[in-house]
Amino acid sequence: MILPILLYGNPILRKKSEDIDKDYPEIKQLIENMFETMYHSKGVGLAAPQIGLNINLLVIDASPFAEDDPVCKDFKRVMINPKVTFEGTKKIVFEEGCLSVPDIHENVTRYNDITVTYLNENFEEVTEKLSGDRAVVVQHEFDHLQGIVFCDKINPIRKRFLKSRLNDISRGKVKTSYRVKTN
Ligand SMILES: [Zn+2]
Repeated sequence: MILPILLYGNPILRKKSEDIDKDYPEIKQLIENMFETMYHSKGVGLAAPQIGLNINLLVIDASPFAEDDPVCKDFKRVMINPKVTFEGTKKIVFEEGCLSVPDIHENVTRYNDITVTYLNENFEEVTEKLSGDRAVVVQHEFDHLQGIVFCDKINPIRKRFLKSRLNDISRGKVKTSYRVKTN
């Protein structure tokens, strides 16, 4: 089932999400719906707050980035209760976008190398070291679980420049090819 995606300005996107356990109702169906919603809207990642749930759950399929970064080809993941730790000091600048912030693409600086520990869809613990595009995607989605949206991290001058467009998005004054929801 394709779910509507919450737009920038919705208070759910600003709340810190909570861990879940195996007993969370209909988790398999929820994960399936999140993938379906993400593919339909041509995203590479989707975090649960974006579909209105403040729980620590995200889905990723970074295969569209495989042309630039071949290791992204098989980077399809479900991450439950992820914890991200940062490795090294190297930073990477990446032009990011977000399904909750339609039509805005801006450079964001993030860590190039991270370690992420999470539970997969079978609630088995996984630890992965990631770098480059994969690390960027995980940090972007992980931020959603902390109530952070990528445009919080852009250059303040650019942010001022985008202010009226962000205001329009928060009022639903934006065209998208997928279902969205303001408040
Ligand atoms: Zn996003």
